[in-house]
Amino acid sequence: MVVKPMLRSNMFLNAHPLGCREFVRRQIEYVKSQPRVTGPKNVLVLGSSGSYGLASRIVAAFAADAATIGVSFEKEAKGKRTATAGWYSEQAFLAAAKDAGRYAETFNADAFSHETRDKVIEAIGRDLGTVDLVVYSLASGVRVDPDSGETYYSALKPIGRRYESVTIDAKTGALTQAAIEPAAEAEIAATVKVMGGEDWALWIAALRDAGVLAPGAITVAYSYIGPTVTAPLYREGTIGAAKKHLEATAHDLDRELRASGGRALVSVNKALVTRASMAIPAVPLYMALLYRIMKDKSIHEGPIEQMQRMFADRLYGTDLQLDGEGRVRMDDWEMRDDVQQAIASQWGKVTAEILPRVADVAGFTEELHQIHGFGFDTVDYEADVTV
Ligand code: NAD
Repeated sequence: MVVKPMLRSNMFLNAHPLGCREFVRRQIEYVKSQPRVTGPKNVLVLGSSGSYGLASRIVAAFAADAATIGVSFEKEAKGKRTATAGWYSEQAFLAAAKDAGRYAETFNADAFSHETRDKVIEAIGRDLGTVDLVVYSLASGVRVDPDSGETYYSALKPIGRRYESVTIDAKTGALTQAAIEPAAEAEIAATVKVMGGEDWALWIAALRDAGVLAPGAITVAYSYIGPTVTAPLYREGTIGAAKKHLEATAHDLDRELRASGGRALVSVNKALVTRASMAIPAVPLYMALLYRIMKDKSIHEGPIEQMQRMFADRLYGTDLQLDGEGRVRMDDWEMRDDVQQAIASQWGKVTAEILPRVADVAGFTEELHQIHGFGFDTVDYEADVTV
């Protein structure tokens, strides 16, 4: 069938299989054009089909020649409905890794369940022996507690007060107003349960207890801080509470892993156009401004450039350059004073007339399309494809 982009409320409802393959191919080509990384040999990526997890896996496999096991939770195609972008990206990665002679296995399963953990551990023991890097890159709206069976839903809400902001409609590029009411206590707790560090700690304990975590293994989870303009909704909101829990978990895990020469780290990554981040009001406008400013200063990075830099310069480089809280800061360029001052000077003054000039709306919508396999000049979007 012919697959055209379908968008609703800034979320894509479909994906293009050949475009997703092109999306993955370009990331692999970028990594191959960079210096090689003397890094991990056997890598587990939890959340391997999305922006940061996928890019981490591509760097591990194609810059460090690592064997990789991925876990993601994606939907296959059904009838006239395409598979999710992540499903196509996983297939494209697996095919490319196998072509290049790298071991690669993916579990399309709920990473929060003990059953998935058991299956992954069995595969590591059987095929790899141990893993020396565990990337924790899950982003989910829901988690079933594997012990109690209770379902928790994460919320993207401010705490204590209503948040109002201008945002961008990804379909039309128009500026719209969005408001979100403050979270209830139970929503804050549930968000921490889904996106905090509890599941990460369960994974590390299970891998260690099963003897499949190599001595000296590193684990890294991803966090975000962001600018003051989105702070009431993000860093000081429900998701920020979860990220603070994730960061505290890193300290506990780090104490444990250091005993055998390993590390547990949080990397604060930069804001990206991703499936997850598009759902957050104010973030699309912030990113369109950020992309314009960072591109003008020649410091713009997508997920692959950033994960390449993280592996090469920080995790497997000479200096982790940790901040005062012990975090790796891959958002260092985003948070530079000159970049943030430029954002702050424009925030609140952006009108529909000046938007195309001050913000990179075209670049940001192009990237959003490309994540879903659309907008590549090398793909024939009029042609029939098998979904
Ligand atoms: P994404 O939505 O692109 O990817 C999420 C991944 O998690 C996918 O592979 C998905 O299949 C997987 N997943 C979700 N639920 C699952 C489940 N139950 N079982 C197995 N897999 C499951 O997200 P992303 O933007 O790459 O975010 C990854 C991490 O990076 C998150 O912790 C996020 O907070 C953080 N981060 C994101 C940004 C950003 O701007 N997007 C910035 C900094 C940090």
